[in-house]
Amino acid sequence: MEGKDMLSWIEANAGKTYKNYVDGEWVESTGKKTYPLYHVARKDQLLGYFPDSREEDVELAVQAAHRAFQTWSKLPGPERGAILLRFADLLERDAEELAFRLSAEQGKTLGESRGEVARAAKETRYAAGEAFRIEGETLPSERPNVWNSTIRVPIGVVAAIAPWNFPVITPVRKIAPALAYGCTVVSKPASNTPWAMVKLIELLEEAGVPKGVVNLVNGSGSRVGQPLVSHPLVRGISFTGSTKQGLAIQETAAKRLARTQLELGGKNPAIVLNHHDLAYVAKQIVSAAFACSGQRCTAISRVIVLKQHAAALTEALRQEMKAIKVGPAWEPGVTMGPLVSKEHLDTVQSYIEIGKSEGARLVVGGDILSAGEYANGYYMTPALFAEVTAEMRIAREEIFGPVLSVIAVRDEEEALAIANSVEYGLAASVFTDDLSSAYRFAERLESGMVHINHGTASAAHLPFGGVKHSGFGAYSIGHSNQEFFTELKVVYVQY
Ligand code: NAP
Ligand code: MG
Repeated sequence: MEGKDMLSWIEANAGKTYKNYVDGEWVESTGKKTYPLYHVARKDQLLGYFPDSREEDVELAVQAAHRAFQTWSKLPGPERGAILLRFADLLERDAEELAFRLSAEQGKTLGESRGEVARAAKETRYAAGEAFRIEGETLPSERPNVWNSTIRVPIGVVAAIAPWNFPVITPVRKIAPALAYGCTVVSKPASNTPWAMVKLIELLEEAGVPKGVVNLVNGSGSRVGQPLVSHPLVRGISFTGSTKQGLAIQETAAKRLARTQLELGGKNPAIVLNHHDLAYVAKQIVSAAFACSGQRCTAISRVIVLKQHAAALTEALRQEMKAIKVGPAWEPGVTMGPLVSKEHLDTVQSYIEIGKSEGARLVVGGDILSAGEYANGYYMTPALFAEVTAEMRIAREEIFGPVLSVIAVRDEEEALAIANSVEYGLAASVFTDDLSSAYRFAERLESGMVHINHGTASAAHLPFGGVKHSGFGAYSIGHSNQEFFTELKVVYVQY
């Protein structure tokens, strides 16, 4: 299908009323309330009505997940994996429809949406494989005729709470491993991106996920998220979102020793030392900074560069940014969509003003676009600030939009100190021709993930997570997930 088909598909499918999915049934919220959702880049076009749920709905969903856990957790891992493999195939079969929904509710380009769906299928297949290799250990005994081993058992009901920037991959990244390891799930998407999620549930059902194993409750953070996090039968909370909410969730969970897996904010640096090809470096940085309109937890937002290369790199970045084409998801050649909402555009715009008033030099971009087609969404041009210092707010705070800051430094030590000076520690890139520098930074950066000589793009089978205020608990995606979704049991057998 072509990009233009997106609009006709939406035209034909918009305006329906959607339900929650509890215990294998599509059900209205108990309060019968719904809210409207609009197309991000056609702001007057209604996409559908979604349940505005409340605590009673959470209660029903958690109870269903708890009942289903009794049988799901006992199903052999390979059988759970087989269902996930079917789900991955279905994601690919319906990739185009998922991409349409995703681009409409979130705004990202169709290319990005297709990539997100493809990635979801990949991560699902990796998780399916994990269901075949839930490992324990066997250790020698202190006594004769005793067999000692450890096994891993699923923790129980898991809450999957997702933000609005990756409405397909984030829920899948939580649900697929939960099912692989034998947990059951209550999923809460961000209230402004619930549409693709409905399709994900339909596909899980079609793949053969039994009733109650995955439940969907739509609605706000306060009326659905909060009761879910507080529920005594929820044994683990996998949350992706802001550091502020993550801290609040951690506090609630700690009171009853529930597990958490928190993936939070970032202020990710690209550190540019001596590199023979600044055009390549700029290409990598620009792509990592402005994908998903900069609304990515792993977006590069600080460029920390040796001062002798600062002017040349700034120019290379400016050149590379010229190739970014801002527009609606379906338009051919568009590489950057709108921001997700008016409120978010206002927040990002306020940082453009903050940067200027702090004395940074706005090299290019940062303008609101509102002529013609742009009037239908929340568009701005990608912004580049130079002469930024480490103390400025634009260099310390997560903006979560298309704003990149260049900070010039004397030497490697200052680069490292500035990179590590913020409260976050999610992803970092280092560009250098020097092997020793590469390893030194890999070792000393306070960051969950370090990329040498490429942008902050992660893989579908490696652990993903952050340190400091960027995350807490077991890393997701990779084998590390077993630390969150399972707990250890030690078995002694006298024979
Ligand atoms: P957010 O405001 O923290 O919301 C995230 C999710 O939490 C939403 O589903 C939200 O519901 C829900 N929520 C809100 N209040 C809650 C509460 N009291 N209890 C339980 N759940 C609650 O984050 P956002 O604005 O959607 O997303 C942007 C943030 O996510 C950024 O900081 C970004 O860095 C971070 N992020 C991190 C990663 C990562 O992997 N590290 C990935 C993506 C995004 P409603 O929206 O429906 O109210
Ligand atoms: Mg929010």
